[in-house]
Amino acid sequence: KGKRAFIAGVADDNGYGWAIAKSLAAAGAEILVGTWVPALNIFETSLRRGKFDESRVLPDGSLMEITKVYALDAVFDQPEDVPEDIKTNKRYAGSSNWTVKEVAECVKQDFGSIDILVHSLANGPEVTKPLLETSRKGYLAAISASSYSYVSLLQRFLPIMNPGGSSISLTYIASERIIPGYGGGMSSAKAGLESDTRVLAFEAGRKHKVRVNTISAGPLRSRAAKAIGFIDMMIEYSLTNAPLQKELTSEEVGNTAAFLASPLASAITGAVIYVDNGLNAMGVAV
Ligand code: NAD
Repeated sequence: KGKRAFIAGVADDNGYGWAIAKSLAAAGAEILVGTWVPALNIFETSLRRGKFDESRVLPDGSLMEITKVYALDAVFDQPEDVPEDIKTNKRYAGSSNWTVKEVAECVKQDFGSIDILVHSLANGPEVTKPLLETSRKGYLAAISASSYSYVSLLQRFLPIMNPGGSSISLTYIASERIIPGYGGGMSSAKAGLESDTRVLAFEAGRKHKVRVNTISAGPLRSRAAKAIGFIDMMIEYSLTNAPLQKELTSEEVGNTAAFLASPLASAITGAVIYVDNGLNAMGVAV
């Protein structure tokens, strides 16, 4: 029987979430996605109008089907946590049931269970500011959207994940090495995410036989990455300095996610897997 995946953080066809959805679909999984509420309308409209059809093509020539798109805002765990200004914001008022708890409940109602949970989202309002200039509010917002959002998702989805299931997030090497320009507490958020990957692997493994891993991905020109402002420089740097001197494709990250979600990776949990053309292994740029 085919597996079912819920991928949080897909709002266009340029990011890692989309590529992971495609690789999982190509391997036969049913695809559900969670799309950030303010981006939902344009994503669904574009899907419906065929704007993504070219990027939906799978290796066998068929088009990836997304069975259902859920509205999601992963910084809110339950309705009681949503402040009035968000509730009445017109980009949010048109959707319902988009807190993490409610999305998990809806997926349970609609499908009963899932096998694969993917967290492919991050947000740091002060990402362009150096850490030394980052406010408490900006730092905590980065952690909330980029690290705790994963704890929250796994907390709510684990009870509906089948034993043998797999959970994957996306991280970046700025967690462990200095990457000037990746500011606003985003480096801290990724360090948290990687540490949590180990602790959650223990807890989810013992409790539900679910594996938890994170992919440390190299630079990709996604919407989120373009907002940081240094992505072209990072791609160029990798091209010049990595052991493999080629541009990294999102498919390569997608395929690693499909491997990690498969029984081929049945003994891999609590791991940070680098998919970066080997750049992480370099000590000196040559
Ligand atoms: P992306 O723009 O495709 O994905 C980020 C998604 O997060 C967007 O769809 C956005 O709508 C969503 N999002 C933001 N706040 C949200 C919230 N509160 N609730 C729900 N969704 C929310 O960009 P991407 O670069 O593919 O990012 C995916 C993951 O990959 C992120 O964790 C990112 O840090 C990581 N990553 C990216 C790169 C890169 O170079 N692009 C490198 C390493 C790791």
